[in-house]
Amino acid sequence: VDTTRIRNFSIIAHIDHGKSTLADRILEVTKVITQREMREQYLDKMDLERERGITIKAQTVRIPYRAADGAEYVLNLIDTPGHVDFSYEVSRSLAACEGALLVVDATQGVEAQTLANVFLALDNDLEIIPVLNKIDLQSADPDRVKQEIEEGIGLDTSEAMNVSAKTGLGVDLVLEAIVKRLPPPKGDREAPLKALIFDSWYDSYQGVVVLFRVVDGTMRTGQKLRMFSTGAEFEVTRLGVFSPGPQDVQDFGPGEVGFLCGAIKDLNEARVGDTITTAAKPATEPLPGFKEVKPMVFCGLYPVDANDYEQLKNALEKLQLNDAAFTFEPETSQALGFGYRCGFLGLLHMEIVQERLEREFQVELIATAPSVVYKVERHDGTTFSIDNPSKLPKQQDTAALYEPFARVEIHVPNEYVGNVFKLCEEKRGIQKDIKYLTATRVIITYELPFAEIVYDFFDRLKSGTRGYASLDYELIDYRASDLVKLDILLNGDPVDALAVIVHRDKAYYLGRDVALKLKKVIPRQMFEVVIQAAIGAKVIARERVAPLRKDVIAKCYGGDITRKRKLLEKQKEGKRRMKRMGNVELPQEAFLAALKAG
Ligand code: GDP
Ligand code: MG
Repeated sequence: VDTTRIRNFSIIAHIDHGKSTLADRILEVTKVITQREMREQYLDKMDLERERGITIKAQTVRIPYRAADGAEYVLNLIDTPGHVDFSYEVSRSLAACEGALLVVDATQGVEAQTLANVFLALDNDLEIIPVLNKIDLQSADPDRVKQEIEEGIGLDTSEAMNVSAKTGLGVDLVLEAIVKRLPPPKGDREAPLKALIFDSWYDSYQGVVVLFRVVDGTMRTGQKLRMFSTGAEFEVTRLGVFSPGPQDVQDFGPGEVGFLCGAIKDLNEARVGDTITTAAKPATEPLPGFKEVKPMVFCGLYPVDANDYEQLKNALEKLQLNDAAFTFEPETSQALGFGYRCGFLGLLHMEIVQERLEREFQVELIATAPSVVYKVERHDGTTFSIDNPSKLPKQQDTAALYEPFARVEIHVPNEYVGNVFKLCEEKRGIQKDIKYLTATRVIITYELPFAEIVYDFFDRLKSGTRGYASLDYELIDYRASDLVKLDILLNGDPVDALAVIVHRDKAYYLGRDVALKLKKVIPRQMFEVVIQAAIGAKVIARERVAPLRKDVIAKCYGGDITRKRKLLEKQKEGKRRMKRMGNVELPQEAFLAALKAG
């Protein structure tokens, strides 16, 4: 392909502003997919994505396009996820592009993720085309939103387009703007091959599939390639593009985006951010890679049935092939037995991984409450990190505890400012800045303990602002905090999997609340269950679950047979999510009691 005829672009937007819908219309207008094949959010391939209506993995598609000037162009569209947990996927995709369509919902305006994505695009030197979407809606106010973009972001909107991704209005203009306003890729065809890996995954038929963008040089099938960082060499057996299904291609030149398959053993040999070169004429310098992403939220995952341990291990390994940001290592809990400590970018990422494990790999799990990574300082001044509250040493053995802090930016209409302040103060926040984006929209900046965000912050923020607030955060540093471990004891035994680390000021309240919640979710058993919450040796709350009266089942006998069966089935159903702690049966909800407390 002639390099001057290539346009590589992403669509960036705040969640729900319509980027997947715009991608759908672009695919339809250019006839990459026919109307018959069309289903909503075409690029969101995973079932889970479709159900939750969000994009998790970035997707690429090659779009042949005959422009108004009569020339044939190749547009490579790279769809990106919009949620804050997945911003690492966004930045990877942007590194493969020259330009981005910035979609802003004309009924809403500039939101936290709009701004965050624009900054990512600017970091990657992308040309940005503003697109005002949902113009078909009565409440659309494109002029106001343009002003927000001009004032809040500093982008010129004189050529911004009014579009309805739903009806297709204005989509032709967007395609022309991509061709006219985005620069073609630059690159030296004669130079040694340099291609950037921006995604890779494991496919059960193809093996490892690598998504890349050629920067310099050329690539063709049969060639022997080398991965820059590991030196691993392999022969390319297949080159192709998605358009939208896979199509074979013989060779690639500068600026082209495609996938390759070859004799690559595992994903560690095709690391995202690495540079592909040739074995015969290797490049001397790699391309700048990506910042490594570190999981920030951890939880324990345990099979409900201990016999499923190996199956869980297999599932985790498979899943990691498709999700480099997710980590796991074996862990043993006195209470839960053998399982894994798993690391995630955020809470949404965690929920999605858990759901995928259960859905795609049929493993039933007990998940412990999520925890952030704390730093512990010993009396001799040395420090270490813990990602599991049960690993916190006794108070007398620690000199200080540190927790991660995040800088949080919240966009909100001014009538909800008071509610946001209240929530942030309650969450131990430190106010940093307030500025007006427009006369009615405010940007509030706080520094908050990351743990407070991980728990129920999003939900509380949404409900306190009738869904109007949006948020972006970034971790900034670790700070000393007065933290304690809250232990939960069942019939006198501490249950390691129920321990949480909390701020001392909140421990008392949380302890009582967790004990109450547990009382509600622990089913009555044949004996009394005493629930205690304790800090160190000090018990701060006590509840009891009275023993089951033996005649509950007996009463059903002789009665209606279907009712009896129903009861037994219900019990069986309940069992599936139970774990035995000593002799007490605990349902999954028990492990999330601390999360839902407060
Ligand atoms: P994304 O999160 O940015 O990918 O947003 P989606 O494309 O999933 O769109 C979010 C919601 O807005 C969906 O319910 C879409 O049907 C709707 N939507 C997207 N574009 C338009 C539009 O131009 N007009 C209207 N009325 N609704 C739209
Ligand atoms: Mg989407």
